[in-house]
Amino acid sequence: MLQCVNPPMEMVRCNKKSDEKFQKIKNSMKKQEKENYDRLARFGCVLCSYIGYEGTPAELHHIRRGNIPRKQAPVIPLCPEHHRGNTGIHLLGRKQFERIYGITEERLLELVNPST
Ligand SMILES: [Zn+2]
Ligand SMILES: [Zn+2]
Repeated sequence: MLQCVNPPMEMVRCNKKSDEKFQKIKNSMKKQEKENYDRLARFGCVLCSYIGYEGTPAELHHIRRGNIPRKQAPVIPLCPEHHRGNTGIHLLGRKQFERIYGITEERLLELVNPST
């Protein structure tokens, strides 16, 4: 009976190990995410840079597609005006925004991630 209650030592160790591994992966993902955000913030507003104004301080805008959770959604840097302002993507809506500036969210994403 006692054997059934106490899991074998080996099993306990294995679980702990995989848990640590999981934590490590989680932490390194967080770090990567943070580094990516820092890089994008340094990039400045991608739309401003597209229309010829370099290095405008930016906020991060999540590109939402279908059911992708916000955390996994790709992000692009947009200045407060192009993000939430009168000429911004949230106020205009994606379709109008893309028509006015002649560039899609996907293309903006490519501009900030040249390697992908
Ligand atoms: Zn801008
Ligand atoms: Zn946004």
